[in-house]
Amino acid sequence: MSELKAALDQIVAEMANAPERGEVASYIPELGKVDPAKFGIAVIMNDGGVATAGDADEPFSIQSISKVFTLALALGRVGDTLWKRVGREPSGTPFNSIVQLEREEGIPRNPFINAGAIVVSDVLLAGHQPREAIGEILSFVRSVADDETIVIDRDVASSERATGYRNFALANYLKGFGNLNHAPELTLGVYFHHCAIAMSCKQLANAGRFLANSGRIPSLNHTVISGERARRINALMLTCGHYDGSGEFAFRVGIPGKSGVGGGILAIVPGVASIAVWSPGLNDRGNSMLGSIALEQLAKRMNWSIFSS
Ligand code: GLN
Repeated sequence: MSELKAALDQIVAEMANAPERGEVASYIPELGKVDPAKFGIAVIMNDGGVATAGDADEPFSIQSISKVFTLALALGRVGDTLWKRVGREPSGTPFNSIVQLEREEGIPRNPFINAGAIVVSDVLLAGHQPREAIGEILSFVRSVADDETIVIDRDVASSERATGYRNFALANYLKGFGNLNHAPELTLGVYFHHCAIAMSCKQLANAGRFLANSGRIPSLNHTVISGERARRINALMLTCGHYDGSGEFAFRVGIPGKSGVGGGILAIVPGVASIAVWSPGLNDRGNSMLGSIALEQLAKRMNWSIFSS
């Protein structure tokens, strides 16, 4: 553990002096207000060990990282029939791209690009009012993080709704192809709110524990999903979790990861640890610039690639 803590402290010190930090997302105006100098990292080991450094206790907008949790919930709800409505291939396109959706007749490439996550929200809305579906997602996140204090930042949700033209376009397109069962504004209400969940690195790393441990939270003796499902979600995180930057992330870091435009990344070392990092500045693919570099350094130092023997 002391080696891990030393690694995190060194990363935080290096990142404080980084010459470039990327650009904070401003297409959601509320996110543009975040201080680009923030940097936090938290690691929860499967054996219960915890190491954190920097701004690891400060909540940030998890944005697309929430898609990991909605996917787990939707698979629990409808099982493998989900894959009739969403694919499992990397898109090679930006997270908010619409071009493939026409060519592929309204079936999004994967559940982590916006179009795919909107379909997942639509699945979770079935039989519910949007408010209830949002409540269920929040309860799930609180339960896997074992933390009832986690909340949705309503200002971020309404800021995104006010400027969410591309997501409205995607949802309308999905509806036009018959792959949305509810009115676009209702499904998007669910989507915008789960993207606006605010969590600290520590809370997020806690929430990822079940993915690092075959679907079970070791310390709570709680089975969240089956081992097979956890393995598959990890596979999708590796291949699709960073959009058109997924290949680069796998090449450099070598573990499953899911990014969000709030600058967070949840990364999983299967069988070993759950990691969350946060640095608000993004690279040109919309993934945290320093967060990716930090994970590359940490994985190298701890020899955590899933590809190493
Ligand atoms: N809520 C964001 C959006 O739809 C999520 C995108 C992301 O985090 N990459 O644009």
